Amino acid sequence: MPRADYIVPESWLTFQTNLRYLACMNQEVITVKHAFTLPVGTPVVLRGWVRSRRDSKGITFIELNDGSRFKSMQLVVDNGVIADEILKQVTTGSSIAATGALVESPAKGQAVELKVSQIHVYGTADAASYPLQKKGHTLEFLREISHLRVRSNTFGAAFRVRNALTHSIHSFFQERDFIYVQTPIITTSDCEGAGQMFNVTSLNVNQPPRTPDGTVDWPQDFFGRPAYLTVSGQLEGEIFALAFSKVYTFGPTFRAENSNTPRHLAEFWMIEPEMAFYELEDNMRLAEEFLKYIIRYVLDHCREDLEFFNERIEKTVLSTLEHVAESNFGHITYTDAIGELKKAGKAWEFPVEWGNDLQTEHERFLSEEIFKKPVIVSDYPKDIKPFYMRVNEDDRTVRAMDVLVPRVGEIIGGSQREDRHDVLLQRLRASGLDEKAYWWYLDLRKFGSVPHSGFGLGLERIMMYLTGLKNIRDVIPFPRTPGNADF
Ligand code: ATP
Ligand code: MN
Repeated sequence: MPRADYIVPESWLTFQTNLRYLACMNQEVITVKHAFTLPVGTPVVLRGWVRSRRDSKGITFIELNDGSRFKSMQLVVDNGVIADEILKQVTTGSSIAATGALVESPAKGQAVELKVSQIHVYGTADAASYPLQKKGHTLEFLREISHLRVRSNTFGAAFRVRNALTHSIHSFFQERDFIYVQTPIITTSDCEGAGQMFNVTSLNVNQPPRTPDGTVDWPQDFFGRPAYLTVSGQLEGEIFALAFSKVYTFGPTFRAENSNTPRHLAEFWMIEPEMAFYELEDNMRLAEEFLKYIIRYVLDHCREDLEFFNERIEKTVLSTLEHVAESNFGHITYTDAIGELKKAGKAWEFPVEWGNDLQTEHERFLSEEIFKKPVIVSDYPKDIKPFYMRVNEDDRTVRAMDVLVPRVGEIIGGSQREDRHDVLLQRLRASGLDEKAYWWYLDLRKFGSVPHSGFGLGLERIMMYLTGLKNIRDVIPFPRTPGNADF
């Protein structure tokens, strides 16, 4: 074990020797997170980035963060232990390895600190030009330095939450016998039938081959016809559901919607379970169980990060999450919801009329004011929903469901799928879609069709809910929005 008064040579070679010495003692290079769990006296090497450095009465205090948890390890360097020319390179943003022993910390808020016997500087960070000095930066400014914002408290916390959330999503489905299916990113079918898709082409966009009538000669393109980035894996998910019963996709989806809002991205991640033999009620039950499970998981595994969000970003994060994890979701039909919204007699920006889609202001009002918790709205008008949703007996509404939550509005959209061949064909035609392009989708209704349902959860929407961050650009590592695809 390195002694506190052990004067260490600074050369890299000796540092490596020391690492090997520690390795022999079964001391791997460990994370800060792990180090906090070790007993006092344990010799460790910690590596990471310096968050701050403070000198007081000949002692140097360094906050070392390696991203493994919110809290940094305090390194204490006694007078004379580290040569001045090394210590002066240890500034905010620099990367170092510190060897030493864990000792009890007199400072409050931490059980241990590292009494340093040796420091190796991997990379310096010029104090005059390193943008992440200690003072608080705005989220807007940090967005412009996405290559460095991940080293800040807010983004460290956000992306650890995102990691835990991702893990919990897989756990939830895997524990319930769902099969994970990777649906394609490049597709030739337009799931929503509503445009908003990015074209994928290998044609020369300046001089595409043209047919005699002047239109682009798509048969000459890479796939022999127009191709797009997918907006949803649902249709392919249905293929798998009709063989594996319960499946889910979890991957990137793309929408060329030119709406610069705080809740829309051009590239976002979606979780889409699809279940054979599930009717709308089963679908709603699963969506509620799923949301509660992942919220509970993040509450249990990311407490420190959530506490930061609760303190610094949104005061109600912890209380609402605890509440949601325990409460039963509300349920209302679209028709009744319209009634409630009309009764509220508010001056809506978008008119409340049966047949109009619910806007965020309506969605938030329903969950925040009327139900005061998440609420599932079902049975929307047929004309505002896609062709694949199962038509109700009334022939005016479809078996659609949206889960609305306070602060965010719609977080999940789903439906029972139309499983009757004749009705589906009619809906396809009425939507102006080319039925030939959907031949395989129709086939699923010809060969062993069963009632089935599914939904889509936007990963970034639930991230906003969990963290209280109000701009969707701050919960995805590298946001893609109109006019912006930096990094
Ligand atoms: P919205 O009305 O909010 O635009 P939508 O009705 O277009 O949503 P769906 O097509 O049902 O959404 O997509 C399923 C889920 O994907 C939504 O509930 C939402 O969580 C998420 N989502 C949809 N569009 C985006 C986007 N542009 N950026 C991020 N997440 C999105
Ligand atoms: Mn949309």
